[in-house]
Amino acid sequence: MRRSLVVGNWKMNGSKSSAISLLTGLKASLADVSGVEVCVCPPYIYLSEASDSFADTKLAFGAQDVSGNAEAGGAYTGEVSAAMLSDAGCQYAIVGHSERREYFGESADLLAKKVEFLLSEKITPILCVGEKLEDRESGLHERVVNGQLMDIVDRLGVDVFSQIVVAYEPVWAIGTGLTATPQQMHAFIRKAISALDLAIADEIRLLYGGSVKPDNAKDLFAMQDIDGALVGGACLDVESFSLIVKAQETV
Ligand code: PEP
Repeated sequence: MRRSLVVGNWKMNGSKSSAISLLTGLKASLADVSGVEVCVCPPYIYLSEASDSFADTKLAFGAQDVSGNAEAGGAYTGEVSAAMLSDAGCQYAIVGHSERREYFGESADLLAKKVEFLLSEKITPILCVGEKLEDRESGLHERVVNGQLMDIVDRLGVDVFSQIVVAYEPVWAIGTGLTATPQQMHAFIRKAISALDLAIADEIRLLYGGSVKPDNAKDLFAMQDIDGALVGGACLDVESFSLIVKAQETV
């Protein structure tokens, strides 16, 4: 039985005081939620204090990224290692978000290193995959997504998929208000993994990301292969994010 998961990616938003007020609101509004895991991913700089101050809540904490240069420490100015994330109370970390692939040119080798370092620190990677609009329009979406999955399998082996979460996020649906009807792609991803290992494919949690809002969450979560969501914009508002979590809880 797959445990559902809703993740909020704050991206580069907020301040010390807005972080505290968002988390205070979520603590109250999600106090009675059960049967769905909720993870928030603030910017690095707020993570440690947030996970300390809100340790008595049901919230799990995650990072938006991690260094792929070294697991623990080293001369990598500006980077934050998996060991540091573990020390800061992280249980999850996003890897390969389309914004990082696009703006920071992250390669398949680098992403595999990030996954490897996170797993060594017992942090669950949330691996983002998804096609761009031009891939979708030229019918290449399945090939692109399969390639992103196999980039990891080729480097780390299929067993690694028993320890990660995959978020399918069509790039054209992120922050645009457009939502994919993604069941087909989630089924495709599960099938691609099942061709390598049936049991792992059955167990792996597949999230959807791309303009998830309270009014579309329920329909998305009702889809057979969708086990939760990676939420951007709507996670910055207590009410919207809580409604999305509750939509998953009641599926
Ligand atoms: C995201 O950036 O991962 C995302 C899904 O954003 P939004 O919900 O704003 O589309």
